[in-house]
Amino acid sequence: MREVVQRAEALLVRRAYRSTPQRRAIIAVLAAKKGEHLTAEEVFAAAKKTRPRIGLATVYRTLALLGKMGIVHHLRAEDGVSRYELSPAWRKARHHHLICLSCGSIREIEAAELDALYEKTALIHKFELVPQPLELWGYCQKCRAGFAAPR
Ligand SMILES: [Zn+2]
Ligand SMILES: [Zn+2]
Repeated sequence: MREVVQRAEALLVRRAYRSTPQRRAIIAVLAAKKGEHLTAEEVFAAAKKTRPRIGLATVYRTLALLGKMGIVHHLRAEDGVSRYELSPAWRKARHHHLICLSCGSIREIEAAELDALYEKTALIHKFELVPQPLELWGYCQKCRAGFAAPR
């Protein structure tokens, strides 16, 4: 977690942004909650524990900035609420999302064949890829079992 915060801090400074205690607190929250998909309010509540005076507007602005820098991945869940997580490149774990349209669950999966396809496509177009999780929408196994049950 410390390592992620330090790397992000270095990148902020390199891009001529200030590394503020609030920004560091937000990065630390995302680094500590790997594999979770947090709303801005949840990031806010967790960051408040170390930075009691942090504001929700600062959290939103910081998440947008970190998103632009590729540190944070932003996904829209089934309820239309934005959720945030540390980008795959910052987690050393490529993954994609299966999002259930019925219960809203978000499952992380690995799909090396998809990654390979993306890499190949980027290579053909001489494009440097920044790996981002894909959102695959549908119905999870649990909900599908529920649909099939007799009423
Ligand atoms: Zn479901
Ligand atoms: Zn994820």
